[in-house]
Amino acid sequence: MISELRKQLLSGETTPVKLLEDLSSGIAERDGQTGAYLSLELQTALEEAQSADLSKPLGGIPIGIKDNINVLGQPCTCGSKFLSKNYTSPYDATVITKLRKAGAIPFGRLNMDEFAMGSSTENSALKQTRNPRDPERIPGGSSGGSASAVADGTAIAALGSDTGGSIRQPASHCGVVGLKPSYGRVSRYGLVAFASSLDQIGPLTQTVEDAAHLLQAIAGADPRDSTSLDVAVPDYHATLKNGVEGLKLGIPKEYFGHGIDSGVRNQVDNAIQKLAAQGAEIVDISLPHSSYAVATYYVIAPAEASSNLSRFDGIRYGMRAEKPEDILDVYKKSREEGFGPEVKRRIILGTYVLSSGYYDAYYGRAQKVRTLIRKDFEQAFKLVDAIVSPVAPSPARKLGTNADDPLQEYLSDIFTISANLAGIPGISVPCGSTDFDGDSQLPVGLQILGPHLAEAKVLQIAHAAEGTCGADIG
Ligand code: GLN
Repeated sequence: MISELRKQLLSGETTPVKLLEDLSSGIAERDGQTGAYLSLELQTALEEAQSADLSKPLGGIPIGIKDNINVLGQPCTCGSKFLSKNYTSPYDATVITKLRKAGAIPFGRLNMDEFAMGSSTENSALKQTRNPRDPERIPGGSSGGSASAVADGTAIAALGSDTGGSIRQPASHCGVVGLKPSYGRVSRYGLVAFASSLDQIGPLTQTVEDAAHLLQAIAGADPRDSTSLDVAVPDYHATLKNGVEGLKLGIPKEYFGHGIDSGVRNQVDNAIQKLAAQGAEIVDISLPHSSYAVATYYVIAPAEASSNLSRFDGIRYGMRAEKPEDILDVYKKSREEGFGPEVKRRIILGTYVLSSGYYDAYYGRAQKVRTLIRKDFEQAFKLVDAIVSPVAPSPARKLGTNADDPLQEYLSDIFTISANLAGIPGISVPCGSTDFDGDSQLPVGLQILGPHLAEAKVLQIAHAAEGTCGADIG
């Protein structure tokens, strides 16, 4: 898709201004239905489009940005009332600097669960986003705006963030490609932090090749993020089309147990058979600590969030409550009024597990289990090149159906969370569709997980899967 657009740009068949105008009329026509965008920055984008350097790898390509990544002079609401007024980004995130260097144009802000906490985008305090494949259903989350826009063609490609599945799960629900890079592959400088030991920025795109284009642009060491790794970034296109012949793909038995929708299972099984037909060797493996992943994540992520979100105090960023009685009241009222219920739940949970009486029992223990989960993957990658699984236990559910059941919602993250705990890369690639509680055909994603920093391998396998499953996808 991006390669095709680049050809058209270079031949003069289209122009960056025309691309932006087309997107903008698509948004005017359809975003009222999907609600993917929180704001558009067309004026500045059009100016940038006029002077775009088409010789660069993403020259003149507009990119949608999840609303927790800072772009100089633009809003950055994180889907929260806290930042929806009185906050404009004072600088570009490193991924934005890198995208600009590659010639791309950030042009619009995409909806998300508040502070990226959620799996449906229903936790946005600002807007409801719908799944373009069925508007009665969630787009997934937390990068639901990014996935919805890419699926609807109102974005060519977008950036999202993934702390426990927030790129892969909405990609799976909307039928697009979503890549979470390894921890350390991409700088988080300028990403509003949720859980710093888990957060990664990555692309949501229409094709695997486009994901490779975007990763190529944003990957690499950054002196402003000490967790970014100073290791060479490979040429992701060089190996993209190498196929799966001779590769060993691990099927973890823990990811195919009860609780998984039969339609999802069929599509994933089908995709695995097709990869086998292309010469991949399928190997049964075990990730024995998988059943602890959700509990571990929902201790560690809220703990880190409670610390990261303490900066929203009514003084430094965004909103400040009116008529406070004293300084304590500024903090209390601003946080009471600024945060939504899910964010408050996480802050309370996180503060509790870090409190002195409970630290060892919860946080300390969760860290130990996290090590066991990481070791499971290290063992598995001694036997196989990559691991293949579903992304989510079921396709996109209807809007509003888990509103009173946060635990049920947390459990749906079961297949994506471990990759964040282990710091390894993972991709969701469309592998078919299935009917689910009703009439609609809903997309199903195939997850491919690789060893730390093996994004090239993950992209290569995803490209093969995309080629072979493509025929099944309407
Ligand atoms: N659904 C998970 C959560 O609610 C993951 C979110 C994310 O990856 N940002 O925390």
